[in-house]
Formats: sequence, structure tokens, C-alpha cells
Amino acid sequence: MTDTPLPSLRDARRVVIKIGSALIVDPALAAPRQAWLDSVSQDIAALREQGTEVVVVSSGAVALARHHLGLTRPVLRLEEKQAAASVGQIRLAQAWTDALSQRGLTAAQLLLTPDDTEHRTRYLNARASLNTLLALGCVPIINENDAIATTEIRFGDNDRLAARVAEMINADQLVLLSDIDGLYTADPRNNPDARHLPVVTALTESIEAMGGAPPPGYSSGGMRTKLMAARIATQ
Ligand code: GLU
Repeated sequence: MTDTPLPSLRDARRVVIKIGSALIVDPALAAPRQAWLDSVSQDIAALREQGTEVVVVSSGAVALARHHLGLTRPVLRLEEKQAAASVGQIRLAQAWTDALSQRGLTAAQLLLTPDDTEHRTRYLNARASLNTLLALGCVPIINENDAIATTEIRFGDNDRLAARVAEMINADQLVLLSDIDGLYTADPRNNPDARHLPVVTALTESIEAMGGAPPPGYSSGGMRTKLMAARIATQ
């Protein structure tokens, strides 16, 4: 815990906001939560208005299509995830385009693989593309290129991808939005003694040990990959 105030989004020049599948997709309807996306788009428009550039890393492609394709088992095979991502990514991009255009903003889609953040030429290409889109006033919407990702070349979670993107474009803030309100000392879904930690000032081993896997279903990262993302972003 610290008395140092958290950095405010008001002071950010560039921010990367990662949004998890659990927030984007309504599991009952297997469709985007359009009202929620509309309200996030309003916030993005307000940030742009104050001069803050915003990049979104959006999950949800697999979750948006698996029901439609009859792939409802909690754990999918890689080929099934690839197929669901191919179908769902179009829906996800459409949902963002609809929400952002209502605020006068243009969505731009970028699908990245770990290679694009690691190999110098590809890294420079991806960075130049993002910088140009931001200069043109667009809101880049990034996801992992799940349709072609294989087990060997795959982040598998957008938390680390978002941290790499933040690094790539020199963002001054990285925000990971999830359906849980922060880090707990244990998993609050099955441990009534779990305590919420509002501020973590150092990523110690005991803090890292608090990061668990997500429940089976539509999410893929959990708190474990969020802490990994925090490590990448603060290194
Ligand atoms: N890229 C995956 C998708 O769009 C989600 C990965 C994650 O949830 O972190 O479905």
C-alpha cells in the first residue's frame, strides 16, 4: 500500500486498454454487449477529446463464435479455436466499428502474433502502422491473430500482448479491464478469506504467487497473465 496517488488517465499521452472476453461477450446471447461497448466508446471519445491517444486490445473473437459453431465444450482444440477466431473476429470488429462510429471515431483492426512484437523488422512495421493510425485519429483495435496462431507461436492471452503493444508504442499507461475488480490475496470465487489489494507497489514473489488461472469457459488469461503483463510493462 502506498500514499502515492495512482496515475490518472487525465495525464496520459498514450494509453493501451485491454478488454477481456468476459466483458465484451454476453454468454447468454453469444453476442457482443453492445451497450457496454457503446459506453466504453464514449470514454474513449472523451480521452481523445482531451488529447490522449487510445489503443484497444480486444479479446472476444473465440467467445463470439463458438456457440454459433456448436463448439460449446469448455476446452477447445487448437484447430477449433482457430476456426472460432476466424468467424468471431469479423463480428468483434463490426461491434467495435458500430460502437466507435457513433462517437465519430474510426476503428482500425490489427491482428498480431508474438513474432510481430519480437522480430525487429516486423516490430518496426507494426509500430509504424500503429503510429500512422494514431496520427490519422483512428482507434486501433488489436487482437492476437488466433486464426493462424499455432501452439508454438501464440501468446494465448491478450494480457501479455497488450503489455508488449504498450512497450512498442511507448504508451504511458496500460489498463487491463476484466470482470474482477483487482488483485486478491487468493481467488475470491472460492476463498472467503481472500483480501482485495487496491495498490501493489512491487511485484514480489509472494504477489506473483497470487495470480491464478481463470475459471474454465470463455476467458483465457486470468490473474496469472495479468501479473506477467504488469511485469513486462514495468520492466
Ligand atoms: N484472442 C482471444 C480471443 O479473441 C482471447 C485471448 C484472451 O482472452 O486473452 O478470443
